[in-house]
Amino acid sequence: MRKWLIVLVSTVLSLSLSFPAVANEKEGPRPEQTLYKADVHIDPKKKQVEGSVEIQFWPKDASHAYVHVYPLAFTKEHKGELWDELLGKEVELGTYDENRILVQGKPVAVKRTGNVIEVPLSEEQSRPIVLSMDFTMTLPQNEGRMSYDEHAIWLGNWLPILAVKDQRGWHLDPYEPIGDPFFSENADYQVNVTLPDGYQLASTATDQAAIVDHSTPGQREFQLDAINVRDFALVIMDSTYHFKETKVGNTEVRTWYRNGDSEEQASRNHTAAVEALQYFNSQFETYPYTEYDVVRVGGSINGMEYPSIVFLDGRHYLPNGDNAFVTVVHETAHQWFYSLIGNNQVDEAWLDEGFAEYATLAFLAAKYPKVGADRVLRRLKQGTITPYYVQEHLRPGQTLHAFPDNESYSDLVYSRTSSMLWMLREAWGEERLHEVLRHYVSTNRFGIANAASWKATLSEAAGEDAGAFLSYWINLDMSKQEEAAIWLEKLRQNQKNHGHPMEKEKAEK
Ligand SMILES: [Zn+2]
Repeated sequence: MRKWLIVLVSTVLSLSLSFPAVANEKEGPRPEQTLYKADVHIDPKKKQVEGSVEIQFWPKDASHAYVHVYPLAFTKEHKGELWDELLGKEVELGTYDENRILVQGKPVAVKRTGNVIEVPLSEEQSRPIVLSMDFTMTLPQNEGRMSYDEHAIWLGNWLPILAVKDQRGWHLDPYEPIGDPFFSENADYQVNVTLPDGYQLASTATDQAAIVDHSTPGQREFQLDAINVRDFALVIMDSTYHFKETKVGNTEVRTWYRNGDSEEQASRNHTAAVEALQYFNSQFETYPYTEYDVVRVGGSINGMEYPSIVFLDGRHYLPNGDNAFVTVVHETAHQWFYSLIGNNQVDEAWLDEGFAEYATLAFLAAKYPKVGADRVLRRLKQGTITPYYVQEHLRPGQTLHAFPDNESYSDLVYSRTSSMLWMLREAWGEERLHEVLRHYVSTNRFGIANAASWKATLSEAAGEDAGAFLSYWINLDMSKQEEAAIWLEKLRQNQKNHGHPMEKEKAEK
């Protein structure tokens, strides 16, 4: 995600985020995949969502599990400039009540800390664990990822979602007003959504394949299935919405807009989504999901990526929204770097934002060279404001709350990381870098990558440890600057002389 403000402040062109779902059959059985089953009723007039969710999972910890309930963040007031930038100044709080929390059908005493619910488990319970919960929420009104306006309700990060436990322990980070403060693992989703007649929806699922039950007069129940996805986002739209549709490979691309939007701009946004998906399919892995929705929402979220669906705010549908095209490309790139390959977006935002931004630059350089050249130049300029950030002890590889403002977040996470990748491209050539990125994507698809995964991929491809190069670029370790430059130069010479990695060259000697 990226706020509009920064985009304007930090230059001519823009940035942003977002993407629906179905796993590739080639993956084979996934025996311990988490399954979310939700049944929700949405009242678009009252702005209420109520229902139940059941999470079937194999616990990582015998004694407890944690669930993020992000809507709780909008039931209380937040102060400060960053929150104002995220939510706007005119905010109405929402309400959220969870009740009847059961494990294996029996009530449990849970502990709630901020937006995180701790659920006790015991060894005696059979596996998988089935955790269920009822909830009722009244939507908050704000400019963010989960809110509404007169024509739509957009629900990002709305369903309870299991916290991740990895070798570093549990990740229970609170909602932050900067970056995308999320971290989740792939799961299957079966979501039944009941709406009054006259409304339509777009979601992470392949919506065109939804079974629609009309048996209750005045209502429709959509049965949505999404397989092997990182999250489940949903937008409810009234009858003022329409969509444009184009098939790219196995993926139906749908760009949604509403009456009053610029039809021409909606077409341009659609073209951006189609061309970007085609390009990324050709450069990285083929997109495994069968539908990709680009949806116009309200508020001022700019762009926000979810699996198989992206939110774009209304400014991207104004006539001549110059920024919109690039925003759509950036959000589409997140379908690979965030959705297909997950990462901890709180502690290692550079892995999704920086890589998505590099992919955006690569697309523009290939398809719109003039726009691409301007943007590359801007990224390189912003990505190398080194002395200031060294002095401030800021770097791309730090946790979200350590960034004092959106500008430093943008310069370091987006610009510096994409600059690093652009340096590799200049040394290696586009073809070789994309071959390496393809390998990185296929190694980590549907899983979680971290700094160590990228370091391993890069070191292997270079035939020489990439530690110093990454310390300089990602951790701004100035003591490694020279070593990083030598490493890169060696890469360049090797590519020039032999067109293959350092290791092979050594082996030949
Ligand atoms: Zn982004």
